[in-house]
Order: sequence, then C-alpha cells, then structure tokens
Amino acid sequence: MSNYQSINPYTNEIFAEYSNSTAQHIEESINLANCLYKKWRHESPQKRSQILDKIADNFKDNRVQMATIMTKEMGKLYVESLEEVDLCINICHYFAQHGVDMLNKVPLNTSLGNAYYLKQATGVIMACEPWNFPLYQIIRVFAPNFIVGNPMLLKHAHNVPGCAALAEKIIKHAGAPEGSMINLYLSYQQLADVISDKRIKGVALTGSERGGASVAMQAGKNLKKSTMELGGNDPLIVLNDANNSLLKKVLQDARTYNCGQVCTSSKRIIVLEDKYDQVLNELKNIFANLKPGDPMNKSTTLAPLNSESAKKKLTQQVKQACEAGANIFYQYPNINEKGAFFRPIILTNINKENPIFDQELFGPVACIYKVKDISEAIELANDSSFGLGSSIISSNVAKAQEIASQIETGMTVINGRWITAPELPFGGIKKSGYGRELSELGLNAFINEHLIIDCTKSNN
Ligand code: NAP
Repeated sequence: MSNYQSINPYTNEIFAEYSNSTAQHIEESINLANCLYKKWRHESPQKRSQILDKIADNFKDNRVQMATIMTKEMGKLYVESLEEVDLCINICHYFAQHGVDMLNKVPLNTSLGNAYYLKQATGVIMACEPWNFPLYQIIRVFAPNFIVGNPMLLKHAHNVPGCAALAEKIIKHAGAPEGSMINLYLSYQQLADVISDKRIKGVALTGSERGGASVAMQAGKNLKKSTMELGGNDPLIVLNDANNSLLKKVLQDARTYNCGQVCTSSKRIIVLEDKYDQVLNELKNIFANLKPGDPMNKSTTLAPLNSESAKKKLTQQVKQACEAGANIFYQYPNINEKGAFFRPIILTNINKENPIFDQELFGPVACIYKVKDISEAIELANDSSFGLGSSIISSNVAKAQEIASQIETGMTVINGRWITAPELPFGGIKKSGYGRELSELGLNAFINEHLIIDCTKSNN
C-alpha cells in the first residue's frame, strides 16, 4: 500500500491527499542528506545537541497542532496523542543532554599499542515507519541519529502523511539544517530503489512481519545494516499472589490504550488458576465501561481503530478464532457510530491449533489463558513466534525476576504495564525483529565503531 491519504477513522472521510514523490525530488533529497552527512563529519555534535533542544521546544510550541493531526489521521484518543508528543519532547531532550557523551571514544585494553575506537556517523538512514505512534516512531530514529550525524529520510505509513509533513516542518523550523530529516511519499518500488542507492547507509523499519521481511530483504540484498522493530504477541503472566489494585491498573491499559494497537501491549493474558475468574471479570468491567465516540472528545474512552481495513482484518481474525473453538466470554454491545469502531472482546479456550494462537491481534481483543502452575505459564509465554515484550504481576519480586529471566523476549516489565522511555532500550527477538532503539544501544545502531591503534611505542 502506498496511496497517501488522510482519512479520519472516526468519520471515514478523506480530508487530504498527497502525491508520490517524484524521481527528481527523491534524487535531490538523497543528495541533500548526503552532503549534510559529509558536512557533519567535520562538526562537533555539541552544536546539534543545542538544535535538538530547540526541536523539543518547537514540538512543545506545536503540541496541540501535532496531537490534533495524529488523532484525525489514525483515530487515537486526543489525550493519548498529547502524551505521545510529550514523550517525543522528552526523547529529544534526553539525547540532547546525553547523546554527545555517548559518542566519546572508547579505550581498549591491549598490549599491542594505544588502542581505542571512535563512534562515528555512517551516513544517510532510510527510516520506514508505521502509523500506530505516528510521531514517536519518527523521533525514536531521528533524535539519536541527529546527534550521531546521520541524516534521515522518512517513508511514513500511507495513512499518516499529514503527521509526517508536520513533524518535518517542526524539525526544520526549529533550526535543523536542510536535509536533517526529509519526508518522502514513496511507493514500495521507490523505497527499494532508495535503499539500493549507495549513499544510503542504514535502514530502520518499525512495522509488521510483512513489511519487515520485505524491507529487510531489500536491505540485505544491498548489504545495508538494518534494524527491525516488528510485531508482538506479548504475554502478561498473572501469578496467584498478584496485588489486586495493581492488577486492575495493569489490565486497564492492557487492551485499550491506543485502542489495543500497541506492539507491546499484553495480547496474551496468562493467568494462574486462582486468579482466572478475577481477571476475566476485571477485564469485562473495564471493557463494559468504555465510552465510544469522537476521539477528540475528553469523555471518549473507546477510539476507533486506525482504518476500516484494520477493522476488517481484526474481525476476520476473531471469526476464525471462534470457528476454531475459541469462546467469547464477553463482547461490547453494538456501537452506533459510523467510524472504524471494533467491539472489544474477551476470548478464552484458545488452543494451539487455533489459527490466532500465534498471530498478533492488533486491537481491543483480550485472549485469556488459564494455567495450573508457573512452569506451564513460562512454557506458554515462550510458545510464540514473536518475542517483543512481556509482563509479570506478582508480590514476590525475586520470583518474578527469576521468571522474567526465563522468558524469551526483548523486554519484561515486572508489576507494571508496558513501558517506553528514552533511556531504556526497546526491541525484540524472534519474529519481533532485531536491533534496539532508544537508550545508548539505539544511538549505537548506525555508528561505525572505528578502531584506531597506535603501535608506535611497540615498534620502537
Ligand atoms: P506495516 O504494514 O509493516 O507498515 C510499516 C511501514 O512499512 C509502513 O511505512 C508501510 O508502508 C511500510 N511497508 C509495509 N510493507 C512494505 C513493503 N512490502 N515494502 C515496503 N514498505 C512496506 O506495519 P503497520 O501495520 O503500519 O504497523 C503495525 C505493526 O507495527 C504491528 O505489527 C506492530 O506490532 C508493529 N510495531 C512494532 C513496534 C516495535 O517497536 N517493535 C512499534 C510499533 C509498531 P505503507 O503504509 O505504505 O504500507
């Protein structure tokens, strides 16, 4: 898909359309970004850290405008859009404050001479991003690479072109040099051509297994370093000693934040026998109390999905699940709105043969599994092609830490809901991808660890 249109999922009305970038504009953009990379190689990152603070300030000044286009294009609750802009402001400030030190040269212990490695920029990064966090996904790649000195080209998802354009404008107006971040409306073929251009040195994708496999193949074919931040089917393990109020708090967000369209939200809720009925009833209460409506309104708590096609796909997955034997414990009543609303649903009795057992359900669908003991919980948690995040709720922190170490995922949260912060690495294993974004690990994703060894003394 690469027909760039703004469609409000609350009304299903098209309110803006964008043409694909021309070959000439793409060439000029790659050239501009590459010239900037060469210029930056001779400049200290200190200057860029000051500009990054200004970029954060400019997002603050344009917070309402940014959040509004996010909600209009992909339907998330306006209050969540504001939270996302604030998170991005924090990410920019974080890398402005700490990024330069992260680039210090690293001394190495060797008897062969005076050795160290430099952390250097590698060149222009092609970033391909999804719609579910339309600003955060851009900033996760942009902010650290801006400090490193890697300019970024952006191909955003087809349904958030206005978010991409506004983010580019805000970054530019804050004083970022021309070419620091260029938004392009690319078809898949144009994207493949850009990736193969020799001036492109890295490829970062966040998205689904489908998008990831295709773009990783293009990157691999051209021997470009890549990071893949893909989907998840994250387990939330609830132990018998889980604190009740904490459990309630965690379940509150588990399948409703961003209308369940979070890569690391708890999609499989694995519950020990004693807590099973309680979890089902808590979730039922949470779902039953949701208020569908215009996501711009403060009183709305159930947003539409991002598009009609997403609703169709999720409806089909749930239908297949039920045909294969899943039980519906609860489903929200009919919603009298014309937008892409999906009725939140709780499914039980999902066995391994069920087609959705190993699929990501991107929306307000809670799959609840009952297990008899901790080892069965761990086995079930690990029985997945995905390995992004996971959570454990238990009053025994030492036991939870031990369980966490046995879960095959990139991230585990103990006694809390899914989390992201500028200082914490984000990423997964298995079909959830490879590489990390954010933190020092994310900043290192596209650097050249350039070894320099001075053998003068050992040769005298
Ligand atoms: P998607 O369909 O894979 O799209 C992601 C990006 O890749 C979009 O810009 C898309 O462009 C592009 N794309 C897709 N297929 C492509 C292809 N064959 N060739 C070239 N480009 C292609 O993913 P999505 O549905 O937008 O996003 C939701 C997924 O992202 C979920 O699976 C979610 O779990 C995952 N996600 C992961 C993380 C993480 O950090 N691990 C964070 C957020 C979301 P078009 O829009 O033009 O198709």
